[in-house]
Amino acid sequence: MSHAIPLTTNNGNALNSRAPLKVAIIGGGLVGSLAALSFARRGHEVHLYEYREDIRRAELVQGRSINLALSQRGRKALAEVGLEQEVLATAIPMRGRMLHDIKGNRTVVIYDPCTNQCLYSVGRKYLNEVLLNAGEKFPNIHRHFEHKLNYVNFNEGRMEFKRAPSKEIVEDNADLIVGCDGAFSTVRQQMVRAPGFNYSQEYIEHGYLELCIPAKDGEFQMPENYLHIWPRDEFMMIALPNQDKSFTVTLSMPFKVFKTIRSSEDLLNFFHKYYADAVPLIGKERLIKDFFKSRPQHLVSVKCYPYHYGSKALILGDAAHAMVPYYGQGLNAGMEDCTLLLSLFNQPNLSTAEILEQFTELRWRDAHAICDLAMYNYVEMRDLTKRLSFRWRKWLDTQLFRWFPNFWVPLYNSVSFTSMPYSQCIANRKWQDKLLQNVLISASLAFVAMTAFKYYGGFQTITL
Ligand SMILES: Cc1cc2nc3c(=O)[nH]c(=O)nc-3n(C[C@H](O)[C@H](O)[C@H](O)COP(=O)(O)OP(=O)(O)OC[C@H]3O[C@@H](n4cnc5c(N)ncnc54)[C@H](O)[C@@H]3O)c2cc1C
Repeated sequence: MSHAIPLTTNNGNALNSRAPLKVAIIGGGLVGSLAALSFARRGHEVHLYEYREDIRRAELVQGRSINLALSQRGRKALAEVGLEQEVLATAIPMRGRMLHDIKGNRTVVIYDPCTNQCLYSVGRKYLNEVLLNAGEKFPNIHRHFEHKLNYVNFNEGRMEFKRAPSKEIVEDNADLIVGCDGAFSTVRQQMVRAPGFNYSQEYIEHGYLELCIPAKDGEFQMPENYLHIWPRDEFMMIALPNQDKSFTVTLSMPFKVFKTIRSSEDLLNFFHKYYADAVPLIGKERLIKDFFKSRPQHLVSVKCYPYHYGSKALILGDAAHAMVPYYGQGLNAGMEDCTLLLSLFNQPNLSTAEILEQFTELRWRDAHAICDLAMYNYVEMRDLTKRLSFRWRKWLDTQLFRWFPNFWVPLYNSVSFTSMPYSQCIANRKWQDKLLQNVLISASLAFVAMTAFKYYGGFQTITL
């Protein structure tokens, strides 16, 4: 057990009434650096182990997606550690989807015309830096970059790391090991061996590749306050704005389609056919260079249960519930994990074992639900958004939300702009669908009855 450390925040408020633990956070990505900060604020002795070099010193950041859509759950978690405003100050609000059809026509679908809530495009590197910098104020956070976790013994709380570049093996131990080491988590791999641990993963047959629409004359080339989507049935492209006035473009499509594009000519033909309006924005040369410079990345969805091992270990973020990125919720859900976990740590009567057990029980349904929703939204984004039925439903949802804001919260709003448990968001949508279906059936029956009445002069005529 570590020595006692101040149980106060920067402004002197006591945050913790339990004995401080030595907590090892594995993974200094977005969720790991937030978790480190959250534990440190409660006075725990935190050791943050990260495989890569310090992102603040790295010139080229290897990793997924340059920018991310931050929404309510992530904002709430950032607010809890006093960082929401700092992050939002440089984030770019995205008020809706701007759909680009195959002819280059653009249509705007506002996310929330009733209360004007929006998503925020934030740089992954910037967000990680803000979280790590905030941790510098806490002497009880010890950072260990270039330490790759190799092995964990949960019962003994013992961990083994390989240091880069020397490959020296380093050992440490902790009271609590928190795996925030992403979709291919080593901590989770060790948990899988424990009896009773259920685990499933699914790779989708689509991959993604990042391109860029650069700034032109120091300005954005498209309206910046939207998430741009080019829905094309089997595949799609999206673009999020960056601070430097460029857009990061993510092209998603089946690997088998990627494989058909072998030459610059194939690529330009493909883009002229499906994304003609994007070609002058990206620029032909840049398109060819960026497309062939990297290979399409795989996307995996992970579900598991439980998230803890006794009183010794826990997994959070992508380590616990990696999902396909199409609801823009992976990070938001991971940050919400921290909110829930630390709210349990605030309950003085719970032991660490009880906290971890409750975390699993309170979280798994919602984590599984958002993995499912993310899969569903992939279909919605690439296909449904351009259908009339989708737009009609969006219009109806908006009207009902406007009239009954406490009763009728549309699915997208509940996921992105509230902290409603994800499983409840799905349940809500189910009863809304049922209600609309019943109204539609009743309206159709009424219409048939009225038509019959008009043509046959009354119901008796029909029955005779
Ligand atoms: C293309 C794409 C777009 C996305 N867009 C969005 C979005 O708009 N909104 C959103 O909310 N989410 C989005 N996501 C999801 C989001 O990126 C993840 O949910 C989020 O990064 C998860 O954070 P994490 O800290 O759990 O894991 P990661 O970000 O993967 O971080 C894990 C960290 O652990 C380290 N690590 C791994 N193994 C070890 C080891 N053995 N020892 C030590 N350290 C280790 C890694 O180096 C890394 O730094 C997107 C994902 C993708 C792929």
